[in-house]
Amino acid sequence: MARIELSDLAHSYRRGASAPGDFALKPMTLTWRQGGAYALLGPSGCGKTTLLNIISGLLVPSHGRVLFDGRDVAHLPTEERNIAQVFQFPVVYDTMTVYENLAFPLRNRGMEARAVDGRVREIATLLELTGELDRKARGLTADAKQKISLGRGLVRPDVAAILFDEPLTVIDPQLKWELRSKLKALHRALDVTMIYVTHDQTEALTFADTVVVMHDGRVVQTGRPDELFEKPAHTFVGYFIGSPGMNVIPASVAGNRVHVAGATIELPQSYDIPSGKRIEIGVRPEFATLARAGEGVPVTVERIDDLGRSRLARLRLQEHPVAAGVPDGLSDIGETAGLILQPDHIHVYADGERIEPV
Ligand code: ATP
Repeated sequence: MARIELSDLAHSYRRGASAPGDFALKPMTLTWRQGGAYALLGPSGCGKTTLLNIISGLLVPSHGRVLFDGRDVAHLPTEERNIAQVFQFPVVYDTMTVYENLAFPLRNRGMEARAVDGRVREIATLLELTGELDRKARGLTADAKQKISLGRGLVRPDVAAILFDEPLTVIDPQLKWELRSKLKALHRALDVTMIYVTHDQTEALTFADTVVVMHDGRVVQTGRPDELFEKPAHTFVGYFIGSPGMNVIPASVAGNRVHVAGATIELPQSYDIPSGKRIEIGVRPEFATLARAGEGVPVTVERIDDLGRSRLARLRLQEHPVAAGVPDGLSDIGETAGLILQPDHIHVYADGERIEPV
């Protein structure tokens, strides 16, 4: 296992790039703790694969350093980094048995036969592959093959880190659910640094102790799953995490007062608002409630979705879409209504970045 540090790291696929837009990864400094379970989460094109390839050695960064336990490995090939990887699609040898597939990375590194056998059986048990060990990989389903790929990634006891690149994409939804929680248990059992790349928030939040959220080549927040939910550092994080995501509403803020669409809300804390920036407030739908016209902030009701146990209102606040809960007793709501925002759950943002109260 290793502590992995990325120091002033940046990458452009273009030679001589200088404008920020030319960089697939904008300058970042990040430390991945030894033995941590990390998710790298962000939408398609935000730079996750680029970052993973730099850590694994498939790509040499155009700027900065990659340190494994303090040693710069930025120019070392993958084989010399002691990294295990699991990709989106299965990587198995069809002509070998499941046992041989799992044993291969160990034999390849000269582990003696008894130790190989012990480790293969341990991993097979953890992944519930014991009954399949003597079967040839060729006849197995795509799901089973991907499980073997996971096993091959997990089997070496001495790796610096295991990198997972969207490993559950091709897995059937039911098994995906099982494997997701199994991977978390495997991390606890094996105690190795794991970095799990995904664009799926459920996968990231289930697996990771620490989630690194990327947007447009930048790391916009690193935190525990509950921190990302309760204190989004950027409007993007608030919007991207949660279902539906955080409401982001243009507003003006002075001291502890928020002015939005002609209504005023008093906050429990005051803010020092920088001038010349776009000011927005963020409120999760869980802390926004539909009310009758005349209460709270004026809104227009677009529709109300019945979610079985609760109802979710889809609203317009001026031209901005907003989602809010509907209280049980509230019925016969017309097109015009009100919106109550819980003051202690209102976040304030300047140009997308969260402002801390004074
Ligand atoms: P996805 O989830 O779709 O794989 P991602 O978050 O992994 O996306 P990257 O694949 O790292 O994102 O891409 C980041 C940016 O770099 C994108 O704008 C992409 O078009 C660009 N890019 C990626 N690979 C190359 C390449 N080999 N040459 C040039 N540009 C590239």
